[in-house]
Amino acid sequence: MDVCYDLHSHSTASDGTLAPAALLARARDAGVGVLALTDHDTLDGIAEAERAARGSGLSLIPGVEVSVSWNRMTIHVLGLNVRPDHRPLLEGLAGLKDFRVWRAEEIARRLEKSGIRGALDGARRHCKGGILSRTHFAHFLVDAGRAPSVRDVFRHYLVRGKPGYVGGEWASLEDALDWILAAGGLPVIAHPARYGLTRSKLNRLVSEFREAGGVGIEVVSGSHSRDETLHMAAVSRSHELYASCGSDYHGPEKPWVELGRLRALPDGCTPIWQATDWPVAA
Ligand code: AMP
Ligand code: MN
Ligand code: MN
Ligand code: MN
Repeated sequence: MDVCYDLHSHSTASDGTLAPAALLARARDAGVGVLALTDHDTLDGIAEAERAARGSGLSLIPGVEVSVSWNRMTIHVLGLNVRPDHRPLLEGLAGLKDFRVWRAEEIARRLEKSGIRGALDGARRHCKGGILSRTHFAHFLVDAGRAPSVRDVFRHYLVRGKPGYVGGEWASLEDALDWILAAGGLPVIAHPARYGLTRSKLNRLVSEFREAGGVGIEVVSGSHSRDETLHMAAVSRSHELYASCGSDYHGPEKPWVELGRLRALPDGCTPIWQATDWPVAA
């Protein structure tokens, strides 16, 4: 039987709701053979995940999802199979974490101006690791009765033009790729259909990404429709990028995304695991 690859997932080290060990147990139960843990801007969950993977029959790919500012937008770049103790990568991520601390304070200040008090403490209560995310503010705002769901909270409070929005000042594309490549990882554009890019902007992003050393694009994603998957498969072929697949799992609170339950890569894509000698699950 083919090995099931899920190369994009989150734990409590960032904005997921399962601890790394619980995430691995769930992935194994779901039939995943190779799982990448790719928390936002941190490698803090990798050590626990590696311990949990040992002897479990599941292979863990240490990864990270780096927040990048490109063309006044936020883009996510996965680094797959990075060395989790690589100094320049860790230092780069530490800078993003510092920005997150400042941004969280600023989000809370802005929410307070629109009459919502205690948001910083509220978000911190939902944050189990070192990365403060808009997701943690969203959980607080749902608890506070501001909107019925995380999705609604984002729409009304946390996106551009709304009271709790603070623009990102993340890594440059070049820096993010330098960190990932130096740490031995494979850079992959995450969920490319989620940025609302026109065809020409997407081409520009992919060209600049390739020039900076990028090698892969997420063709199959928990957040891609069938048509988006086919579109990104065509992009991967025309730009000669390896195709990746990942659920972008954040926890059981989003039951419409499950670990390992992914469409197959469309014909003509070259899977990213063919770029490497990754371990195959026992
Ligand atoms: P941050 O990196 O802290 O700005 O938060 C980004 C995270 O928020 C993403 O990784 C998603 O998990 C989550 N997110 C972003 N937009 C939405 C949305 N519209 N609805 C629900 N979650 C979202
Ligand atoms: Mn997230
Ligand atoms: Mn993302
Ligand atoms: Mn993600």
